[in-house]
Amino acid sequence: MQTIEELLREKKIKVTPQRMAVYAVLQRTKDHPNVEMIYRELKPNYPAISLATVYKTVDILKKVGLIQELSFGEGGLRYDSVTLPHAHIFCRNCGKVVDIESISPERLRELLLMESVAEETGFHISSMQLYFYGLCLYCNNKQSES
Ligand SMILES: [Zn+2]
Ligand SMILES: [Zn+2]
Repeated sequence: MQTIEELLREKKIKVTPQRMAVYAVLQRTKDHPNVEMIYRELKPNYPAISLATVYKTVDILKKVGLIQELSFGEGGLRYDSVTLPHAHIFCRNCGKVVDIESISPERLRELLLMESVAEETGFHISSMQLYFYGLCLYCNNKQSES
């Protein structure tokens, strides 16, 4: 396993404690946080960190391919350190994002007809996303109570 510092250096990113910390948060969580969530998580240990720094860092990490950006429309932009293609489900009420582990990258390519899309359009496909929207178990139960 490479350290975060080695990974950033390999991607030719200037290594700073704050940048390493942002990437570390994304590596240890499965919550697919947005920028504000990352910021709130880091603030107690990095009092000098700004929201702008988190925005910038996430943007850099995304551009070098260390993380992927997920766009849930109304749910905004969320970040994931797992860069292999996988499907997600998003709760419209609480914003919870969950990986759908049973859909392998290969299965996802099949489901999204990647081969035929590439053939039809002549595009080289660099990414693809499959999002499901709904209510999580908790929010759904709460809604049926009221
Ligand atoms: Zn929910
Ligand atoms: Zn994910």
